[in-house]
Amino acid sequence: MIVMKFGGSSVADRAQIEKVLGIVRAHANHAPLVVCSAHKGVTDGLVKAAREAAKGRLEVETVIAKQLGVARELGCDDALLAPLFDDLRSLLRGVQLVRELSARSLDYVSSFGERWSTRVIADLFSRSGLPADAHDVWDLGFVTDASFGQARPVPGYEQQMRDAVARLPAGRVPIVTGFIGKTADGEITTVGRNGSDLTATLVGAALGAAEVQIWSDTDGVMTADPRLVRSARNIPDMRFDEAAELAYFGSRMLHPATLLPAMAAKIPVRVLNTNRPEHAGTVIRGEAAPNPSPVTSIAYKERQLVLTLCSTRMFGEVGFLGRVFETCARHGVEVDMVTTSEVTVSLTANDRPSLERAADELAALGSVRIDEGRSILVIVGQHLAERPGLGAEVFGAIAEAGVNVEMISHAFGAINLSLVVRDADVSRTVAVLHRVLFEEARA
Ligand code: ASP
Ligand code: MG
Repeated sequence: MIVMKFGGSSVADRAQIEKVLGIVRAHANHAPLVVCSAHKGVTDGLVKAAREAAKGRLEVETVIAKQLGVARELGCDDALLAPLFDDLRSLLRGVQLVRELSARSLDYVSSFGERWSTRVIADLFSRSGLPADAHDVWDLGFVTDASFGQARPVPGYEQQMRDAVARLPAGRVPIVTGFIGKTADGEITTVGRNGSDLTATLVGAALGAAEVQIWSDTDGVMTADPRLVRSARNIPDMRFDEAAELAYFGSRMLHPATLLPAMAAKIPVRVLNTNRPEHAGTVIRGEAAPNPSPVTSIAYKERQLVLTLCSTRMFGEVGFLGRVFETCARHGVEVDMVTTSEVTVSLTANDRPSLERAADELAALGSVRIDEGRSILVIVGQHLAERPGLGAEVFGAIAEAGVNVEMISHAFGAINLSLVVRDADVSRTVAVLHRVLFEEARA
């Protein structure tokens, strides 16, 4: 069997859902289990309604009207979702009364998007001659812990899922909710925003799927952000570690956590385009076909902060860096990139309040400054470390473009080379790097 996951834009409206129908039909002989997101914008609408209710304003009909619009466009009977609409109305009335929105209530409210979309999609599929049933994922054994907003399945969920899926009727396509879950006590949870990809890999791993397909709106993973580099091209095949590195810094493609269950279960993840199903996309797996190019892709993360600590006490003092990072950890700073010299340490992070709290305390050790508006740019490739002269090419090209590189990090034998530049320079830098590394590159 295979798991096929369709995101919010893939199931946005009738035109998109009909493309999904065609794609699932074409894979019918691989026993697909389909994981769906809410229609595009519905989860945002639910979150907004929840926040408004907590301020005493009941605004539930906007999101219901949006969902009803899609349901009617698909030709579904109004009665199909009516009970779930009523549940949401009562729930938000409760939130409005108590004027309080716990993480638990927010997950409950957010869960309606996927419960609605799976029902209307299964209904349309069945009326179109592809018999399908909607399933809330918890009815298929997906039991989570109670970490609302970032729940994860409890140990042993795999066997429960295998048993539940084995009991499903043959010849009918299961259309399963992404993003949500339920604790053993029956509390509704979510795995986190944009979490349907993660649901898909967790379900795929539990069921031992032959493949997990992530269908969205790009031709798989690209060598660079196509909005910045017109000549960006598709990467047919890549390794889990390369994809994880890019996911972490590119943030537009896959969340790194998404890949972990597939990586652990050795299940290939294929990234495909709902709008161009004939395109082969990108397959991510443990052993990618050897890539002759030293560089696989370039990604970047904007709007980062850089904290720099200068201290002569660092010179020759044992445990200095330990104290710096212990301070950061205590204030909840998530550090991405680090460089050090004898007297300075620079680190990047993206949450200002926690970084400022850490900075106040670090000021006891030396002079501290925080610079904002910086981007981390990362070049990823299996053979990066083996390519002599790569650094010279990279920095030569960047210098020619007149961009100042503020931090550089490349670990011994690593598959990534990371740089920090100003946000304003990022598009120029990505374009110039793409040119020297991909367009002029001799393998
Ligand atoms: N519908 C959820 C969200 O918008 C989950 C997802 O689409 O992956 O965050
Ligand atoms: Mg999404």
